[in-house]
Amino acid sequence: MQLFGSGDGAAEASLPEWSSVLHAMPIPAALVRSTGEVLAANRWLDVEPGDLLLEPETGPLGATLRFGAQKSRWRVRPVEQDGSVLLATGEREDAGDHLLRKFFSSGDSLFVVYDQAGQIIQSNAAWEALLGYTSDQVFGLDSWTLLPEDDLETRDRVEKELRAFGRSEPTFQMRTADGSYRLVEWALHFDMSVGRCFGIGRDVTEQERVTAELEWRAFHDQLTGLANRARLVDRLGTVLEEGGSPALLFCDLDRFKVVNDSLGHQAGDALLTRLAGRLASIGLGPDALLARFGGDEFVLLLEDGDEDRATRAAEQLLACLEAPFLVAGRPIHVTMSIGISIAAGSPNRSADGLLDDADTAAYAAKSQGRERLVVFDERLRAQAKRRFDVEAGLRRAMRDGHIQPLFQPIVALPGGGIVGAEALVRWKQGDHYLSPGQFLDVAQDAGLMAEIGQIVADASIEAAAALAEAGRPLPLSINMSDAELKSPDICTWMAERVASAGLDPSSILIEITESAVLATDEAMPVLERLRSHGFRLGLDDFGTGFSSLAHLRELPINVVKVDRSFVADLVDDHVTRAVTASLVELCHALDLDVIMEGIETADQAAAVEQIGGSKAQGFLFHRPMPIEDLASLVTGGRIGNKRPPIETTDPARVRTRPAAAMPATARP
Ligand code: C2E
Ligand code: CA
Ligand code: CA
Repeated sequence: MQLFGSGDGAAEASLPEWSSVLHAMPIPAALVRSTGEVLAANRWLDVEPGDLLLEPETGPLGATLRFGAQKSRWRVRPVEQDGSVLLATGEREDAGDHLLRKFFSSGDSLFVVYDQAGQIIQSNAAWEALLGYTSDQVFGLDSWTLLPEDDLETRDRVEKELRAFGRSEPTFQMRTADGSYRLVEWALHFDMSVGRCFGIGRDVTEQERVTAELEWRAFHDQLTGLANRARLVDRLGTVLEEGGSPALLFCDLDRFKVVNDSLGHQAGDALLTRLAGRLASIGLGPDALLARFGGDEFVLLLEDGDEDRATRAAEQLLACLEAPFLVAGRPIHVTMSIGISIAAGSPNRSADGLLDDADTAAYAAKSQGRERLVVFDERLRAQAKRRFDVEAGLRRAMRDGHIQPLFQPIVALPGGGIVGAEALVRWKQGDHYLSPGQFLDVAQDAGLMAEIGQIVADASIEAAAALAEAGRPLPLSINMSDAELKSPDICTWMAERVASAGLDPSSILIEITESAVLATDEAMPVLERLRSHGFRLGLDDFGTGFSSLAHLRELPINVVKVDRSFVADLVDDHVTRAVTASLVELCHALDLDVIMEGIETADQAAAVEQIGGSKAQGFLFHRPMPIEDLASLVTGGRIGNKRPPIETTDPARVRTRPAAAMPATARP
């Protein structure tokens, strides 16, 4: 039977049935004769059978009935076909009530009225729509049964607040008819005088979902789902504030770049995800938080960790990487370097301080040969400070023109005539030079490699132009790091520099290493563009690290520089000698020029000659020297300040030559 439907359905019921219907209705209702006499009324209505109601009048919402002096408004519909009996339903309305009713029934706000027992007396369409109940299902429903079973606490709290203050503003989950839940924010008001609780609610499910998603994103790494840097720093800060003694494990993957660059970023991402899963699956205790800190860096926070526990955890992490990962169908072996910092006893008890220390220790683990753990100590702090000082000094030196190349001649064999020179960067400090080994690692970490490369290239192009102008053009080599190979501008920049110096690009040999080419996807196109601009390319340090004979064919190179480790063994080790001989032969067959590096003894020079090497570089012939010495050597002092030629293979001589003696054209 339809209680709240249109009048048509209602009219079908017979009179005795109607009286029981009246009692089930959630709102004041009465059966009334067309004369206004009450036949029956339900418990919500304070009238007796026989009481007289005023004549109905017709309004826009149907007939209304005047009810005594209270002027209540009623909805009236006929029950008998002839209209002799009417059903009057409605609520007493005081002034402004219909506005309230409008408000009540329109919009998204949820309204509910329930009695002291928690039974729902009235709800609006928005409430019913949200929870998926029809109004007849709602009436008399115990509102608390809509809360999740385990949420007894909310009910307790709300009832207490309503009793004490008459109001409560809880937010809780409500079960819908289909069994799902919506989160609703309520303002509940309990009116003691009528024994009713009135609630206005708002569905905040979506809002909460979005907020939760944003919060999740703010504190998690999207790729791996691990905590992110922000979350880690936040948690670490809290632990420290609360006086805990946390330990940090800074885990830096070894050579991840190579994997990423050789297999592609997708494979790299897949590897990181799988790796994160494996690291997270080791049971490290409830106080452990594993975060992805940066590209290939993970940090494990042990909220309560001494050196023992941290070391054991690090060993577990290293051990879990022993089995290879299967990525893009191939097994990949991953190792990492772990740096540990312990808050207990550290003078650096801040989140940043501990992270820095762990990072420094990881750096030390890396430089000690990777795949190991290093616990931070004060000695490392001193080292880190040195790096910091070196970086600051390096920036100053770059600005002040103290970063400049020396040039080491390349000679022809036999004979030793100078056929070129390689620019090797130095840091000039007073009367001596620092060699690249003493500062390039810092430059690399500080992101200064590209800029240093430009300084050297600039100086070398100027030097080549000066030599050409003096009538003794000499091919010069410059070393290009992966940082430079990443920049597409480098080609245009080099081409413009060479053109404005009036040089032929083929007089510049750009030396690159295989690892620099492998380190970035951008390298190959850059190499091809450099080639197409007319520069010559040389593969440096061949025979170390990643060397592959295939690269000799595939890379757009003109020259191969065979690493000095080959030359060192050439005299005594007949296997090396045989290998080097076939390497030289292969290069020549591929029309590649070969330069043997690091010749220190006459025996080595002889051996190089014997296996067919025709170009060489090494201390036996010349050490790196300032440009004016090189100029003197090749021109007989015909450029710059026209000093007499000086053979400067004496390193002491090289180092003490004042910068003022350099020709203006060759000064970096
Ligand atoms: P490299 O390109 O292999 O340069 C040759 C290195 O071998 C130079 O060291 C040179 O002084 C040294 N050397 C030459 N002959 C001999 C020898 O007979 N015996 C021995 N023991 N060593 C010899 P240097 O100048 O210390 O440079 C080291 C490395 O630093 C270079 O290796 C190169 O990789 C890098 N480097 C130097 N200058 C630059 C630069 O301007 N840019 C870039 N990106 N890297 C540079
Ligand atoms: Ca080189
Ligand atoms: Ca080399």
